[in-house]
Amino acid sequence: MSAVDADVLVVGGGPSGVAAAIELRRQGRRVILLDREPALGGATRHCAHSPFGMLEFGRVYFGAAYGRKLTREAEKAGVDIRTGHSVVELGEGSVLVTAGPGVEKLTAERILVTTGAREKPRSARLLSGDRPIGVVTTGTLQSYLAFHGLLPFRRPLIVGSELVSLSAVLTCLSHGARPVAMIEPRAHALARAPLTWFPSLMGIPFHRGAEIVDILGRTRVEAVTIRRAEKLETLDCDGVLLTGQFTPESALFLQSALGIDPGTAGPAVDQQGRSLDPRTFAAGNVLRAVETGGWAYREGRAIGRAIAEDFGRDPEDGVPVPVTFDAPIKLVVPNILRRATSAPAFRQFQLRVLRRVRGRLSLELDGREVWQARGLWMPERRILVPIPPDAPQAQNVHFRFREED
Ligand SMILES: Cc1cc2nc3c(=O)[nH]c(=O)nc-3n(C[C@H](O)[C@H](O)[C@H](O)COP(=O)(O)OP(=O)(O)OC[C@H]3O[C@@H](n4cnc5c(N)ncnc54)[C@H](O)[C@@H]3O)c2cc1C
Repeated sequence: MSAVDADVLVVGGGPSGVAAAIELRRQGRRVILLDREPALGGATRHCAHSPFGMLEFGRVYFGAAYGRKLTREAEKAGVDIRTGHSVVELGEGSVLVTAGPGVEKLTAERILVTTGAREKPRSARLLSGDRPIGVVTTGTLQSYLAFHGLLPFRRPLIVGSELVSLSAVLTCLSHGARPVAMIEPRAHALARAPLTWFPSLMGIPFHRGAEIVDILGRTRVEAVTIRRAEKLETLDCDGVLLTGQFTPESALFLQSALGIDPGTAGPAVDQQGRSLDPRTFAAGNVLRAVETGGWAYREGRAIGRAIAEDFGRDPEDGVPVPVTFDAPIKLVVPNILRRATSAPAFRQFQLRVLRRVRGRLSLELDGREVWQARGLWMPERRILVPIPPDAPQAQNVHFRFREED
């Protein structure tokens, strides 16, 4: 009789958690997969649009169907699935879970946290004005529609221009809502063209360099004031749809001794996906907001494999070397490196910049430049840099940035 409840506890049943759980089952490990929602699928469950699943399953699914596919694959693999289970505390080799019967402690040799990311709500954006009904994020809007059949507005203003903002436009149009406009505070869109042409093609005005300064309405949203080209103007609308500005769902790390990385706002992890606690790993959007469902799936699978390889060895607890960087780099994943004997889950560093910037980006190991590239770097777009095989041996790993005109 084993002293622990499972070899691995996976917290979060979105694409990354399910992929890791399936991979661990393939490697013969006992896995319990916990999710607070009533079904697996994570953020994909409420997406009434495609594309999901092309690379991992060889065909395109709509979000909800993709969630069901994940469930079938996890069941087939023999994963012990426990939905309706909220993890409320992360310990060393254990978690506290609340479910119907009450609070329970579960123990495991390894824990993998895959709790995803969420769009920034109104409170975190510090938006001033009245507090009427009808100010929601894309995820909330999609959940209202998918799970309750509720449409909170008919003429919303859409704020933001990331990929998810286009998901917001699609969701509105396909449910009979007609956005009055889309605004983006920056001078340029964050998603790539031609995707950013979509709102205008649908007849929705897209104002760049415009920001919301006031929300008006006593019970429901009646109008918003925006600032555009230094002028204030009022737009009549009945809702505000806040899109993007994702932030990792890292509350479990924040409450634990592990804390979070200031760049990513998720846990610090090394090239195996291992956190500052050698027995706790993380994968998917909790590492850095935000990636696609396919990316989360592949990352989960790679980290699941790394965890499986980790069994039979002492948890590698070599001193982690932080990966440091210059402004305007916003984040780097993995954000620590350890000397390790097993194959890495991450073969590339992933970086983001804070703003649109032109310049020379380079990677230095112990002061020696090993990689460089020049270019125009855009915020919220992934930058990939190969991790040199000798990087985990370095004492100093630094991304340098020199701005150029
Ligand atoms: C509105 C929207 C539209 C999108 N559209 C697309 C698209 O068209 N194509 C695409 O490829 N990607 C899309 N994405 C992105 C995609 O959904 C995500 O990349 C993917 O779901 C991330 O997977 P994940 O496993 O990291 O996290 P998630 O899918 O977010 O899953 C995290 C899971 O953890 C659970 N959880 C969190 N905390 C706890 C806890 N304490 N205890 C127990 N369970 C917990 C949650 O319930 C959730 O099920 C979209 C995302 C959003 C929000």
